[in-house]
Amino acid sequence: MAGSIFTKIINREIPATIVYETDSIIAFRDIAPQAPVHILIVPKKEIPTVNDIQESDTSVMGELMLAAARIAAQEGIAEDGYRLIMNCNRHGGQEVYHLHCHLLGGKQLGRMIQ
Ligand code: 5GP
Repeated sequence: MAGSIFTKIINREIPATIVYETDSIIAFRDIAPQAPVHILIVPKKEIPTVNDIQESDTSVMGELMLAAARIAAQEGIAEDGYRLIMNCNRHGGQEVYHLHCHLLGGKQLGRMIQ
């Protein structure tokens, strides 16, 4: 896979509000926020889905979790709490096939499964 919409954001080919970036991770505000804070945390490597994670990706996946905690603190929602979601394939509701973690918060969230 090459050139996902998120890779275009990573390469600054399309705009996004970037809130966090390292050599291997980028995070930016979702274009259609579902909560007051809705940030997408994305490995720069184009891993299509959670199913495609390899042993060699364990480091970047750990960095993704660390980024989530740091961004939550940065956004001021760490103490109240937040939700991390990774959708996988059709039943999971995945729309963009470049692995990403949703960070949602800033209000009391409702039930997880609809
Ligand atoms: P998924 O359903 O794949 O888990 O989530 C994809 C997310 O990407 C959706 O919440 C959608 O609003 C967001 N998204 C899709 N295209 C763009 C874009 O061009 N820019 C930003 N910032 N978010 C996007």
